Amino acid sequence: MQNIQHFRPTKAIIDLQAIQNNVRHLKEYLKPNVQIMAVVKANAYGHGDIEVAHAAIEAGASMLAVATPDEALHVRKHFPNIDILILGYAPVLFAPYAANENITLTVFSTEWVQNVQSLKTLTKPLKLHIKIDTGMGRIGVTKIEDLLHLYNTINSSSNLIVDGVFTHFATADEEDESYFNKQANMFEQFISALPAKPRIVHAANTATMLMKDKHLQFDAVRFGISMYGLAPSAYVKTKLPFPLQTAFSLETELIEVKQIQAGQSIGYGATFTATEPSYIGTIPIGYADGLIRKYSGQHVLLDGIRVPIVGRICMDQCMILLPTAYNIGEKVTLIGKQKEEEITIDEWASKVDTINYEVPCIITSRVPRIYNTKQ
Ligand SMILES: *Cc1c(COP(=O)(O)O)cnc(C)c1O
Repeated sequence: MQNIQHFRPTKAIIDLQAIQNNVRHLKEYLKPNVQIMAVVKANAYGHGDIEVAHAAIEAGASMLAVATPDEALHVRKHFPNIDILILGYAPVLFAPYAANENITLTVFSTEWVQNVQSLKTLTKPLKLHIKIDTGMGRIGVTKIEDLLHLYNTINSSSNLIVDGVFTHFATADEEDESYFNKQANMFEQFISALPAKPRIVHAANTATMLMKDKHLQFDAVRFGISMYGLAPSAYVKTKLPFPLQTAFSLETELIEVKQIQAGQSIGYGATFTATEPSYIGTIPIGYADGLIRKYSGQHVLLDGIRVPIVGRICMDQCMILLPTAYNIGEKVTLIGKQKEEEITIDEWASKVDTINYEVPCIITSRVPRIYNTKQ
């Protein structure tokens, strides 16, 4: 993989070796013959879909999952042969494209299937996975009769194939298992109501695969967050059977250093005022890079020590409070390790009251992803 040249020092460093190690470790907990579907939606949770997919496949994944038709077409260009499933909605008009590109679609509506049938433009078979909503309340059939009607409608067309059936759990990452068990039981009832078992039954996300009985791995598991080295919840983090390795770090450099006097203020709104003579460093990252204004006050690392972002974060830049004068070009780590210190994605998530999933996802495309396969 060729990293193209970038002139701004702000970059996300993606450790593909960590992703491979995570997939290989996770694989040890799978029953024989369970396939790994690498979930690379949303540009692989902000890590870079093509590069992550390559790494995951090398480590044992045999299928890819994305969220949208556009993501699927992008991934298909780089991977002509692997199975690609769109986990979310695809419009009827996308069906001929999916058939041509051998992209598998998720279905949950008989009307959708009938509309595809009436297009009469499918020149190749179209593979479908039926989604069952067992309690997530998002997409999927909620009644056995609807499942059977959908199944039979699909099977009435020779070029439509029920390749799989799946569900998604709402609470697999929580300690209380009652809602999870209700969903799991319902899924098994729905599966057994089908006249024949489709080729691939799947239900497990990371949390299910790590925390629940192995029979819920069925024919395939959908690995997302754990591939990226993050735990699905604080609870699962305490129960991990092996340490995950995070793959995402975020770095930049000091581009200006100035000394200010007591009483001088920093940034829009002049919200930070120095109480003593201080050194202020400017770094070229702002809310248009995904460093949203709520991160004001968040620590970053410089020379192995924690220093805070001060004042309001601007669109393209922000300021940090330095303990002493540092040189222009000094490395600043926003996420990652320096010496003995580390700032984690989990720390960022709690700073703005969200989950770790959201943190790398919202680092925008202006921040180049640089791939580091350090062995
Ligand atoms: C995103 C997603 C996953 C991956 O979940 P993780 O918790 O990241 O492992 C699995 N299945 C579906 C349907 C998803 O939308």
